[in-house]
Amino acid sequence: MSPRTHHEVLIIGGGNAGISLAARLRRYGVGDVAVIEPKDHHLYQPLFSHVAGGRAKASQAVRSQASVTPTDVTWIHDGALSVDAEANTVTLRSGATVGYGHLVVCPGLQFDWDAVPGLTEAMQSPAGASHYEFSLVPKISALLRDLTSGTVVFTMPSGPIKCSGATQKPMYLACDYWQRRGVLGDIRVVMVQPYPTVFGVSGVDEQLEEKIAEYGIELRLNSELSSVDAAGQVAVITDTDDGATEEIRYDVLNAVPPQSAPDWLKATDLPAPGDAGGFVEVDPETLRHVRYSNVWSLGDAAATTNSKSGGALRKQTMVLAKNLVAARRNKPLPEKYNGYSVCPFTVSRSTVVFAEFDDQYRPMPTIPNVPTWKESRLSWIIDADIFPQVYWNGILKGRD
Ligand SMILES: Cc1cc2nc3c(=O)[nH]c(=O)nc-3n(C[C@H](O)[C@H](O)[C@H](O)COP(=O)(O)OP(=O)(O)OC[C@H]3O[C@@H](n4cnc5c(N)ncnc54)[C@H](O)[C@@H]3O)c2cc1C
Repeated sequence: MSPRTHHEVLIIGGGNAGISLAARLRRYGVGDVAVIEPKDHHLYQPLFSHVAGGRAKASQAVRSQASVTPTDVTWIHDGALSVDAEANTVTLRSGATVGYGHLVVCPGLQFDWDAVPGLTEAMQSPAGASHYEFSLVPKISALLRDLTSGTVVFTMPSGPIKCSGATQKPMYLACDYWQRRGVLGDIRVVMVQPYPTVFGVSGVDEQLEEKIAEYGIELRLNSELSSVDAAGQVAVITDTDDGATEEIRYDVLNAVPPQSAPDWLKATDLPAPGDAGGFVEVDPETLRHVRYSNVWSLGDAAATTNSKSGGALRKQTMVLAKNLVAARRNKPLPEKYNGYSVCPFTVSRSTVVFAEFDDQYRPMPTIPNVPTWKESRLSWIIDADIFPQVYWNGILKGRD
């Protein structure tokens, strides 16, 4: 840990948001930037879906934290425990206190496994796994690869989660794999979704519905996983409209857990009063805290209105960096985030439906008049081959 006890800009979380912002701030001339990050490794989470579906190796999604932290940024190898925004200090798990000129809060989301009775036990049982948890990704990959008959249930929770469309991605990859092996007809595939449509973006929904029909997937809309009998391998699904329940015996369960801001963050006074999700109360356009002018947030932990994703972050990072630099010079904030988000749906083992949309789920294509939401081989190449390179070599270096 650095012996310094004060930094001009202190960033909580060295994930996608924290490292790309730190690198960008250094490029913009901020001299003293520190990142608090407890983990030794850094994860490229979008690749988890590809690994789960057998189209990438787990090792491609992880690098050492030391290798992604810019050399001219201080890495505080510890975790944040609390923030005193009146005193401009952060207390660390080690007990140390660090002061700041500006604070950026981006520790991501926590997984609330215990919110669904039996889900923790299901994850520890042989038939349950999740492609949202890195340690469980190889397990779900093997379960899907080895299945030749039976029932597989994929579930998505309600509430804010990271990259909601990613909940579906391993399902399509697995269906295509089973179809090619000639066993898809012997496998019952059920997808449980809490909302009234398969995703919510016009054009994209039609493409996904085509694939769902092609693979024979049973889609349960307005439905949620409400409990699991891990020993009996039974998923209880509740209809969110009328409360009716259905029990499905599964051979494989891929569950995405309910998510919220980390508990320690909920206990600070950075979330809006009464916000049970605990996200940092920022202006969704400027990304500056509404009550503390030297506190900022972006990424999964920010109370912005967009769908949380790395694609959204790419825009947010530039906005926040420019606004923070202006604020330090007492200038008006020059940039506004427009709510853009993105989700590349891997609808087969070689094609992607590329969804770009705003915070109302209205289409927001980067290149106007190009139908990127159509299933395409080029979009697969961009998602599977180009994006990881752009992430490691551009975004994390503050260049993209
Ligand atoms: C399965 C899956 C698939 C996805 N697919 C896509 C996709 O296809 N496209 C896309 O755009 N996005 C996708 N995403 C979403 C994207 O990965 C996230 O939105 C993005 O990583 C959020 O960045 P972040 O920095 O806010 O959080 P994270 O990247 O999660 O980083 C948070 C960091 O904070 C650290 N931290 C936690 N607690 C503390 C603490 N107390 N003190 C200090 N540090 C702390 C963590 O260790 C972590 O390093 C996917 C996510 C998942 C899980």
